Amino acid sequence: MESEETGTETGSETHELLVIGGGVAGLMAATYTARAGIGTLIVNSGESIVRRNAHLENVPGFPVGVNARLFGDMLQSQATRNGADLQTGTVTELSGSLDDGFVATVDSAATKDDTVQRAISAERVIVASWADIDYLDGLGVEVRDAGSKQYVDEDSRGRTNVEGLYVAGRLTERYHQAVIAAGSGAETAITLIHDAEVPFYNDWVAPQGYFTDRGREVPPGCEEISETERRAREQASMAAMQEYFAEPHGERQRTHPSLVDDALGRIDE
Ligand SMILES: Cc1cc2nc3c(=O)[nH]c(=O)nc-3n(C[C@H](O)[C@H](O)[C@H](O)COP(=O)(O)OP(=O)(O)OC[C@H]3O[C@@H](n4cnc5c(N)ncnc54)[C@H](O)[C@@H]3O)c2cc1C
Repeated sequence: MESEETGTETGSETHELLVIGGGVAGLMAATYTARAGIGTLIVNSGESIVRRNAHLENVPGFPVGVNARLFGDMLQSQATRNGADLQTGTVTELSGSLDDGFVATVDSAATKDDTVQRAISAERVIVASWADIDYLDGLGVEVRDAGSKQYVDEDSRGRTNVEGLYVAGRLTERYHQAVIAAGSGAETAITLIHDAEVPFYNDWVAPQGYFTDRGREVPPGCEEISETERRAREQASMAAMQEYFAEPHGERQRTHPSLVDDALGRIDE
């Protein structure tokens, strides 16, 4: 199909869930929904703000800190390894409803000078972007204006006033820390999983017999694994972590974009 405005190709695809924004919150939300079996597509336009951090020292599991670009890469890999799809693009418009389905207009760079516009349909949407939310204008979402910033109103579990539309991360006006954004993404995802009536107790991997030796079925969302399987997963994680940490991260440190005359905000050495 030809788009009149851009003269470029458009297409359409449908997903159970669209996550707008592949930063800390969006990637964590997508990890949970994909693991619960919900077909999840993340559309991300650019860099997560966490990549500006110089050394990330307060996220769980890294006692000596971690390169923030590597942390971002690992979160991305965690979402996709668990089944989420990730595409690069900017959501410029979102319309629809839970009953009729949502439709996002997504712009992606085809070449340096050309943009391709696509329509992506989804049953539900998690908004985990920052900071421009003009693309929500047609939906009647309740938004709070706080000076130059805008936040999306939610019910403290990630539901907005528009059924089927959820919010996570910075847009919720929670504290501006990575672990809080990750927690917000996880909480919003679990809210959505419950609302979608996907059978779910907890997302837990337990040792064999943990439930069944007590006469219980393995609850939905949980898994019991044998000792052999546990060792195999441990080996795989050790190999992957050695690979992640084998070399310093290749990406250069980024500073605030306003500080250098460079569209990418890179330090000009
Ligand atoms: C210099 C600096 C240092 C920091 N250091 C720390 C620290 O030490 N510890 C800590 O806990 N936190 C730190 N933070 C904060 C932390 O990075 C944030 O709290 C966290 O990244 C917020 O996650 P988020 O997912 O809400 O937003 P982001 O991670 O910014 O993700 C939002 C994503 O949405 C995408 N997006 C935006 N608009 C669209 C659109 N229209 N369509 C598609 N995608 C879109 C963006 O490209 C981005 O990838 C630091 C931040 C900065 C700036």
